[in-house]
Amino acid sequence: MTTGIADPTSRRLREVSESVTLAITAKAKALRAQGEDVIGFGAGEPDFPTPGHIVTAAQAACVEPANHRYSPAAGLPRLRTAIAAKTVRDSGLQVEDEEVLVANGGKHALYNAFQALVDPGDEVLLPAPYWVSYPEQIRLAGGTAVELPTDAVSGFRVSVEQLEAARTARTKVLVFVSPSNPTGVVYPPEEIEAIGRWAADAGVWVVTDEIYEHLVYGDARHVSLPVVAPEARERCVVVNGVAKTYAMTGWRVGWSIAPVAVTNAMARLQSHATSNVAGVTQAAALAALEGSLDDVAEMRATYDRRRRLTHDRLTAIDGVTCPLPEGAFYAFPSFEAFLGRRIGGRQVHTSLELCEALLEVARIALVPGEGFGAPGYARLSYALGDDDLVRGLDRLADALG
Ligand code: PLP
Repeated sequence: MTTGIADPTSRRLREVSESVTLAITAKAKALRAQGEDVIGFGAGEPDFPTPGHIVTAAQAACVEPANHRYSPAAGLPRLRTAIAAKTVRDSGLQVEDEEVLVANGGKHALYNAFQALVDPGDEVLLPAPYWVSYPEQIRLAGGTAVELPTDAVSGFRVSVEQLEAARTARTKVLVFVSPSNPTGVVYPPEEIEAIGRWAADAGVWVVTDEIYEHLVYGDARHVSLPVVAPEARERCVVVNGVAKTYAMTGWRVGWSIAPVAVTNAMARLQSHATSNVAGVTQAAALAALEGSLDDVAEMRATYDRRRRLTHDRLTAIDGVTCPLPEGAFYAFPSFEAFLGRRIGGRQVHTSLELCEALLEVARIALVPGEGFGAPGYARLSYALGDDDLVRGLDRLADALG
Protein backbone atom coordinates (compact mmCIF):
# COMPACT_ATOMS: atom_id res chain seq x y z
CA MET A 1 0.00 0.00 0.00
CA THR A 2 1.35 3.45 -0.86
CA THR A 3 0.73 5.85 2.03
CA GLY A 4 2.61 8.93 0.95
CA ILE A 5 4.65 8.64 4.14
CA ALA A 6 8.37 8.18 3.66
CA ASP A 7 9.61 4.66 4.46
CA PRO A 8 9.62 4.68 8.27
CA THR A 9 11.83 1.61 8.67
CA SER A 10 15.37 1.92 9.96
CA ARG A 11 18.28 2.16 7.54
CA ARG A 12 19.64 -0.98 9.14
CA LEU A 13 16.62 -3.07 8.22
CA ARG A 14 16.13 -1.51 4.82
CA GLU A 15 19.44 -3.04 3.87
CA VAL A 16 18.49 -6.55 4.96
CA SER A 17 17.16 -8.77 2.20
CA GLU A 18 14.56 -11.49 2.64
CA SER A 19 15.88 -15.03 2.90
CA VAL A 20 15.89 -16.31 -0.68
CA THR A 21 15.35 -19.84 0.63
CA LEU A 22 12.16 -18.87 2.42
CA ALA A 23 11.03 -16.74 -0.53
CA ILE A 24 11.18 -19.60 -3.04
CA THR A 25 9.55 -21.98 -0.55
CA ALA A 26 6.74 -19.46 -0.01
CA LYS A 27 6.22 -19.11 -3.78
CA ALA A 28 6.05 -22.89 -4.18
CA LYS A 29 3.59 -23.15 -1.25
CA ALA A 30 1.37 -20.42 -2.75
CA LEU A 31 1.22 -22.28 -6.07
CA ARG A 32 0.42 -25.50 -4.22
CA ALA A 33 -2.38 -23.72 -2.35
CA GLN A 34 -3.86 -22.87 -5.77
CA GLY A 35 -3.97 -26.58 -6.52
CA GLU A 36 -0.74 -26.76 -8.56
CA ASP A 37 1.38 -29.90 -8.29
CA VAL A 38 4.67 -28.26 -7.26
CA ILE A 39 7.65 -30.28 -6.07
CA GLY A 40 9.75 -28.32 -3.61
CA PHE A 41 13.51 -28.84 -3.51
CA GLY A 42 13.83 -25.58 -1.65
CA ALA A 43 13.24 -26.21 2.03
CA GLY A 44 16.23 -26.84 4.24
CA GLU A 45 14.40 -29.20 6.54
CA PRO A 46 13.89 -32.92 7.07
CA ASP A 47 10.65 -34.38 5.72
CA PHE A 48 10.41 -36.80 8.68
CA PRO A 49 8.21 -36.17 11.69
CA THR A 50 10.01 -35.61 15.00
CA PRO A 51 10.69 -39.02 16.65
CA GLY A 52 7.82 -40.17 18.89
CA HIS A 53 9.63 -40.23 22.24
CA ILE A 54 10.52 -36.53 21.81
CA VAL A 55 6.91 -35.58 21.06
CA THR A 56 5.75 -37.62 24.07
CA ALA A 57 8.18 -35.75 26.34
CA ALA A 58 6.83 -32.44 25.03
CA GLN A 59 3.25 -33.55 25.69
CA ALA A 60 4.16 -34.37 29.29
CA ALA A 61 5.91 -30.99 29.63
CA CYS A 62 2.71 -29.18 28.56
CA VAL A 63 0.91 -30.14 31.78
CA GLU A 64 3.84 -29.21 34.02
CA PRO A 65 3.10 -25.74 35.55
CA ALA A 66 6.82 -24.84 35.67
CA ASN A 67 6.69 -24.76 31.86
CA HIS A 68 3.88 -22.22 31.97
CA ARG A 69 6.23 -19.69 33.56
CA TYR A 70 9.33 -17.69 32.70
CA SER A 71 12.58 -19.59 33.19
CA PRO A 72 16.27 -18.55 33.07
CA ALA A 73 17.03 -16.64 29.85
CA ALA A 74 20.19 -18.70 29.24
CA GLY A 75 18.27 -21.98 29.23
CA LEU A 76 17.05 -24.62 31.67
CA PRO A 77 20.02 -25.74 33.78
CA ARG A 78 19.28 -29.39 33.01
CA LEU A 79 19.30 -28.72 29.28
CA ARG A 80 22.59 -26.79 29.49
CA THR A 81 24.08 -29.79 31.29
CA ALA A 82 22.67 -32.18 28.67
CA ILE A 83 24.14 -30.05 25.87
CA ALA A 84 27.56 -30.14 27.54
CA ALA A 85 27.27 -33.94 27.93
CA LYS A 86 26.08 -34.41 24.34
CA THR A 87 28.95 -32.30 23.04
CA VAL A 88 31.61 -34.42 24.73
CA ARG A 89 29.77 -37.57 23.58
CA ASP A 90 29.48 -36.54 19.93
CA SER A 91 32.57 -34.47 19.21
CA GLY A 92 34.87 -34.93 22.21
CA LEU A 93 34.78 -31.24 23.17
CA GLN A 94 34.82 -30.73 26.95
CA VAL A 95 32.31 -28.04 27.86
CA GLU A 96 31.29 -26.33 31.12
CA ASP A 97 27.57 -25.71 31.59
CA GLU A 98 28.21 -21.94 31.92
CA GLU A 99 29.61 -21.91 28.38
CA VAL A 100 26.27 -23.10 26.96
CA LEU A 101 23.49 -20.72 25.93
CA VAL A 102 20.15 -22.12 24.75
CA ALA A 103 18.61 -20.05 21.93
CA ASN A 104 15.61 -20.12 19.59
CA GLY A 105 17.38 -22.25 17.00
CA GLY A 106 20.88 -22.27 15.59
CA LYS A 107 19.94 -19.15 13.63
CA HIS A 108 19.30 -17.22 16.82
CA ALA A 109 22.54 -18.54 18.34
CA LEU A 110 24.44 -17.25 15.28
CA TYR A 111 22.71 -13.88 15.52
CA ASN A 112 23.73 -13.63 19.18
CA ALA A 113 27.31 -14.56 18.33
CA PHE A 114 27.73 -11.83 15.69
CA GLN A 115 26.10 -9.28 18.00
CA ALA A 116 28.47 -10.27 20.78
CA LEU A 117 31.69 -10.30 18.76
CA VAL A 118 31.37 -7.76 15.97
CA ASP A 119 31.73 -3.98 16.22
CA PRO A 120 30.93 -1.57 13.39
CA GLY A 121 33.74 -1.73 10.86
CA ASP A 122 34.94 -5.17 11.88
CA GLU A 123 35.51 -7.62 9.05
CA VAL A 124 34.14 -11.14 9.06
CA LEU A 125 35.66 -13.69 6.70
CA LEU A 126 32.91 -15.58 4.95
CA PRO A 127 33.76 -18.44 2.57
CA ALA A 128 31.31 -18.57 -0.35
CA PRO A 129 29.03 -20.27 -1.23
CA TYR A 130 27.54 -19.47 2.17
CA TRP A 131 24.26 -20.00 3.97
CA VAL A 132 21.97 -17.05 3.24
CA SER A 133 21.60 -15.69 6.76
CA TYR A 134 25.30 -15.19 7.56
CA PRO A 135 25.89 -12.00 5.53
CA GLU A 136 22.67 -10.40 6.76
CA GLN A 137 23.41 -11.21 10.38
CA ILE A 138 26.95 -9.86 10.02
CA ARG A 139 25.55 -6.66 8.49
CA LEU A 140 22.99 -6.33 11.30
CA ALA A 141 25.89 -6.38 13.76
CA GLY A 142 27.55 -3.54 11.84
CA GLY A 143 30.25 -5.79 10.41
CA THR A 144 31.50 -6.21 6.86
CA ALA A 145 31.30 -9.67 5.35
CA VAL A 146 34.44 -10.37 3.33
CA GLU A 147 33.49 -13.06 0.86
CA LEU A 148 36.09 -15.68 -0.01
CA PRO A 149 35.02 -17.42 -3.23
CA THR A 150 35.43 -21.17 -3.65
CA ASP A 151 34.27 -23.34 -6.52
CA ALA A 152 33.88 -26.94 -7.61
CA VAL A 153 37.58 -27.03 -8.60
CA SER A 154 38.69 -26.17 -5.06
CA GLY A 155 36.08 -28.62 -3.73
CA PHE A 156 34.12 -25.63 -2.36
CA ARG A 157 36.65 -25.47 0.49
CA VAL A 158 38.48 -22.34 1.57
CA SER A 159 42.26 -22.57 1.97
CA VAL A 160 44.55 -21.14 4.63
CA GLU A 161 46.26 -19.17 1.85
CA GLN A 162 42.96 -17.50 0.97
CA LEU A 163 42.29 -16.70 4.61
CA GLU A 164 45.74 -15.23 5.09
CA ALA A 165 45.45 -13.14 1.91
CA ALA A 166 42.12 -11.70 3.11
CA ARG A 167 43.29 -10.91 6.64
CA THR A 168 43.54 -7.23 7.62
CA ALA A 169 43.89 -5.35 10.90
CA ARG A 170 40.04 -5.26 11.03
CA THR A 171 39.53 -9.01 10.69
CA LYS A 172 37.66 -10.16 13.77
CA VAL A 173 35.84 -13.39 12.93
CA LEU A 174 35.91 -16.32 10.51
CA VAL A 175 32.67 -18.15 9.76
CA PHE A 176 33.32 -21.86 9.34
CA VAL A 177 30.73 -24.51 8.50
CA SER A 178 31.20 -28.20 7.83
CA PRO A 179 29.13 -30.05 6.68
CA SER A 180 28.14 -27.12 4.54
CA ASN A 181 24.86 -25.64 3.48
CA PRO A 182 24.53 -25.18 0.46
CA THR A 183 27.35 -27.31 -0.98
CA GLY A 184 27.15 -30.49 1.12
CA VAL A 185 30.93 -30.37 1.47
CA VAL A 186 32.65 -31.86 4.53
CA TYR A 187 36.18 -30.60 5.20
CA PRO A 188 38.79 -33.29 5.96
CA PRO A 189 40.08 -33.18 9.58
CA GLU A 190 43.57 -32.00 8.60
CA GLU A 191 42.17 -28.98 6.75
CA ILE A 192 39.98 -28.07 9.74
CA GLU A 193 43.01 -28.35 11.98
CA ALA A 194 45.06 -26.08 9.68
CA ILE A 195 42.27 -23.49 9.56
CA GLY A 196 41.88 -23.59 13.35
CA ARG A 197 45.63 -23.16 13.82
CA TRP A 198 45.68 -20.26 11.39
CA ALA A 199 42.85 -18.55 13.29
CA ALA A 200 44.60 -19.04 16.62
CA ASP A 201 47.89 -17.65 15.25
CA ALA A 202 46.07 -14.71 13.67
CA GLY A 203 44.02 -13.97 16.82
CA VAL A 204 40.82 -14.35 14.78
CA TRP A 205 37.61 -15.64 16.37
CA VAL A 206 35.88 -18.61 14.73
CA VAL A 207 32.13 -19.03 14.65
CA THR A 208 31.88 -22.71 13.74
CA ASP A 209 28.45 -23.95 12.69
CA GLU A 210 28.03 -27.67 13.46
CA ILE A 211 24.28 -27.91 12.84
CA TYR A 212 24.75 -30.79 10.34
CA GLU A 213 27.30 -32.72 12.43
CA HIS A 214 25.35 -36.02 12.34
CA LEU A 215 24.54 -35.87 8.64
CA VAL A 216 27.74 -37.15 7.03
CA TYR A 217 27.98 -39.99 4.52
CA GLY A 218 30.45 -42.47 3.06
CA ASP A 219 33.99 -41.94 4.32
CA ALA A 220 33.35 -38.35 5.43
CA ARG A 221 33.37 -37.70 9.15
CA HIS A 222 32.58 -34.65 11.18
CA VAL A 223 35.25 -33.25 13.47
CA SER A 224 34.83 -30.19 15.64
CA LEU A 225 37.29 -27.35 14.93
CA PRO A 226 38.21 -26.64 18.59
CA VAL A 227 38.84 -30.38 19.10
CA VAL A 228 41.34 -30.79 16.27
CA ALA A 229 42.78 -27.29 16.84
CA PRO A 230 42.57 -26.83 20.63
CA GLU A 231 44.59 -23.63 20.38
CA ALA A 232 41.52 -22.02 18.73
CA ARG A 233 39.19 -23.02 21.58
CA GLU A 234 39.50 -19.76 23.56
CA ARG A 235 38.31 -17.75 20.56
CA CYS A 236 35.64 -20.12 19.34
CA VAL A 237 31.85 -20.07 19.29
CA VAL A 238 30.38 -23.48 18.43
CA VAL A 239 26.80 -23.33 17.15
CA ASN A 240 24.52 -26.34 17.03
CA GLY A 241 20.89 -27.35 17.51
CA VAL A 242 18.29 -30.10 17.30
CA ALA A 243 16.63 -28.94 14.06
CA LYS A 244 18.41 -30.98 11.40
CA THR A 245 19.59 -33.95 13.47
CA TYR A 246 16.24 -34.81 15.05
CA ALA A 247 13.83 -33.44 12.43
CA MET A 248 12.86 -30.61 14.81
CA THR A 249 13.07 -27.48 12.65
CA GLY A 250 9.75 -26.10 13.90
CA TRP A 251 10.52 -26.53 17.60
CA ARG A 252 13.19 -23.81 17.58
CA VAL A 253 15.96 -24.96 19.88
CA GLY A 254 19.63 -24.34 19.22
CA TRP A 255 22.61 -23.33 21.29
CA SER A 256 26.05 -21.83 21.38
CA ILE A 257 29.15 -22.90 23.27
CA ALA A 258 31.58 -20.05 23.89
CA PRO A 259 33.95 -18.70 26.53
CA VAL A 260 31.95 -17.59 29.58
CA ALA A 261 32.45 -13.84 28.99
CA VAL A 262 30.96 -14.15 25.49
CA THR A 263 28.18 -16.47 26.67
CA ASN A 264 27.25 -13.98 29.39
CA ALA A 265 27.16 -11.14 26.86
CA MET A 266 24.90 -13.15 24.56
CA ALA A 267 22.69 -14.10 27.54
CA ARG A 268 22.33 -10.39 28.38
CA LEU A 269 21.20 -9.70 24.82
CA GLN A 270 18.79 -12.59 24.93
CA SER A 271 17.40 -11.48 28.31
CA HIS A 272 16.24 -8.24 26.67
CA ALA A 273 15.30 -9.58 23.26
CA THR A 274 13.58 -12.93 23.67
CA SER A 275 13.90 -14.19 27.30
CA ASN A 276 13.83 -17.97 27.68
CA VAL A 277 13.12 -20.43 24.89
CA ALA A 278 9.68 -22.01 25.44
CA GLY A 279 9.84 -24.54 28.27
CA VAL A 280 7.97 -27.23 26.34
CA THR A 281 10.41 -27.12 23.46
CA GLN A 282 13.37 -27.16 25.84
CA ALA A 283 11.86 -30.33 27.35
CA ALA A 284 11.59 -31.79 23.85
CA ALA A 285 15.23 -30.93 23.14
CA LEU A 286 16.24 -32.53 26.42
CA ALA A 287 14.49 -35.77 25.42
CA ALA A 288 16.26 -35.65 22.06
CA LEU A 289 19.72 -35.14 23.55
CA GLU A 290 19.30 -37.62 26.39
CA GLY A 291 17.82 -40.26 24.08
CA SER A 292 19.59 -42.58 21.67
CA LEU A 293 20.82 -41.73 18.21
CA ASP A 294 19.00 -44.70 16.62
CA ASP A 295 16.35 -42.58 14.86
CA VAL A 296 19.10 -40.29 13.60
CA ALA A 297 20.98 -43.27 12.11
CA GLU A 298 17.81 -44.36 10.31
CA MET A 299 17.15 -40.89 8.88
CA ARG A 300 20.80 -40.61 7.85
CA ALA A 301 20.62 -43.92 5.95
CA THR A 302 17.59 -42.60 4.05
CA TYR A 303 19.30 -39.30 3.19
CA ASP A 304 22.34 -41.26 2.05
CA ARG A 305 20.25 -43.27 -0.40
CA ARG A 306 18.51 -40.12 -1.68
CA ARG A 307 21.84 -38.33 -1.96
CA ARG A 308 23.19 -40.96 -4.36
CA LEU A 309 19.98 -41.02 -6.36
CA THR A 310 19.94 -37.22 -6.65
CA HIS A 311 23.59 -37.07 -7.67
CA ASP A 312 23.17 -39.87 -10.25
CA ARG A 313 20.13 -38.22 -11.80
CA LEU A 314 21.66 -34.74 -11.85
CA THR A 315 24.95 -35.76 -13.43
CA ALA A 316 23.07 -37.80 -16.06
CA ILE A 317 21.67 -34.51 -17.43
CA ASP A 318 23.91 -33.27 -20.21
CA GLY A 319 25.52 -29.98 -19.11
CA VAL A 320 24.89 -30.34 -15.35
CA THR A 321 27.94 -30.82 -13.13
CA CYS A 322 27.69 -31.61 -9.45
CA PRO A 323 30.15 -32.93 -6.88
CA LEU A 324 28.85 -35.83 -4.78
CA PRO A 325 27.61 -34.21 -1.55
CA GLU A 326 29.27 -35.66 1.56
CA GLY A 327 27.10 -34.11 4.26
CA ALA A 328 23.91 -32.19 5.14
CA PHE A 329 21.05 -32.87 2.68
CA TYR A 330 21.78 -30.63 -0.28
CA ALA A 331 23.15 -31.03 -3.79
CA PHE A 332 24.68 -27.92 -5.35
CA PRO A 333 24.92 -28.40 -9.13
CA SER A 334 26.21 -25.89 -11.64
CA PHE A 335 23.75 -24.86 -14.35
CA GLU A 336 26.17 -22.51 -16.07
CA ALA A 337 25.88 -24.49 -19.30
CA PHE A 338 22.19 -23.52 -19.52
CA LEU A 339 22.58 -19.78 -19.11
CA GLY A 340 21.77 -18.01 -22.36
CA ARG A 341 19.55 -20.92 -23.46
CA ARG A 342 15.76 -21.20 -23.66
CA ILE A 343 13.86 -23.11 -20.96
CA GLY A 344 10.23 -23.71 -21.89
CA GLY A 345 10.25 -20.90 -24.43
CA ARG A 346 11.86 -18.45 -22.05
CA GLN A 347 15.44 -17.26 -22.40
CA VAL A 348 17.35 -17.43 -19.12
CA HIS A 349 20.50 -15.45 -18.40
CA THR A 350 21.06 -16.12 -14.70
CA SER A 351 20.49 -18.98 -12.26
CA LEU A 352 17.75 -16.83 -10.69
CA GLU A 353 15.91 -16.67 -14.02
CA LEU A 354 16.54 -20.37 -14.54
CA CYS A 355 14.93 -21.22 -11.19
CA GLU A 356 11.96 -18.95 -11.98
CA ALA A 357 11.54 -20.69 -15.34
CA LEU A 358 11.77 -24.14 -13.75
CA LEU A 359 9.05 -23.23 -11.26
CA GLU A 360 6.86 -21.87 -14.03
CA VAL A 361 7.46 -24.53 -16.66
CA ALA A 362 8.26 -27.69 -14.70
CA ARG A 363 6.62 -26.84 -11.36
CA ILE A 364 9.80 -27.59 -9.42
CA ALA A 365 11.30 -25.22 -6.83
CA LEU A 366 15.10 -24.93 -6.61
CA VAL A 367 16.95 -22.19 -4.76
CA PRO A 368 19.09 -20.03 -7.08
CA GLY A 369 22.79 -19.75 -6.26
CA GLU A 370 22.67 -15.93 -6.16
CA GLY A 371 21.40 -16.04 -2.54
CA PHE A 372 24.39 -18.13 -1.54
CA GLY A 373 26.96 -15.90 -3.26
CA ALA A 374 27.30 -18.44 -6.08
CA PRO A 375 25.59 -17.34 -9.29
CA GLY A 376 25.33 -20.07 -11.91
CA TYR A 377 24.48 -22.73 -9.33
CA ALA A 378 21.28 -23.80 -7.60
CA ARG A 379 20.60 -25.74 -4.43
CA LEU A 380 18.37 -28.79 -4.25
CA SER A 381 17.41 -30.28 -0.92
CA TYR A 382 17.03 -34.05 -1.12
CA ALA A 383 15.17 -34.16 2.20
CA LEU A 384 11.89 -34.99 0.50
CA GLY A 385 9.94 -38.21 -0.04
CA ASP A 386 11.35 -40.69 -2.57
CA ASP A 387 8.43 -40.44 -4.99
CA ASP A 388 8.57 -36.65 -5.11
CA LEU A 389 12.35 -36.76 -5.43
CA VAL A 390 12.19 -39.02 -8.50
CA ARG A 391 9.28 -37.14 -10.07
CA GLY A 392 11.00 -33.80 -9.49
CA LEU A 393 14.31 -34.94 -10.93
CA ASP A 394 12.47 -36.35 -13.97
CA ARG A 395 10.84 -32.97 -14.47
CA LEU A 396 14.21 -31.24 -14.21
CA ALA A 397 15.75 -33.57 -16.77
CA ASP A 398 12.79 -33.02 -19.14
CA ALA A 399 12.94 -29.23 -18.75
CA LEU A 400 16.67 -29.10 -19.42
CA GLY A 401 16.78 -31.89 -22.02
N1 PLP B 1 23.18 -23.08 10.09
C1 PLP B 1 23.00 -23.61 8.88
C2 PLP B 1 24.20 -23.85 8.02
C3 PLP B 1 21.72 -23.92 8.42
O1 PLP B 1 21.55 -24.46 7.22
C4 PLP B 1 20.62 -23.64 9.25
C5 PLP B 1 19.23 -23.88 8.79
O2 PLP B 1 18.93 -23.92 7.63
C6 PLP B 1 20.85 -23.10 10.51
C7 PLP B 1 22.15 -22.82 10.91
C8 PLP B 1 19.74 -22.73 11.46
O3 PLP B 1 19.06 -23.81 11.97
P1 PLP B 1 17.91 -23.60 13.06
O4 PLP B 1 17.78 -22.16 13.34
O5 PLP B 1 16.69 -24.19 12.46
O6 PLP B 1 18.38 -24.36 14.27
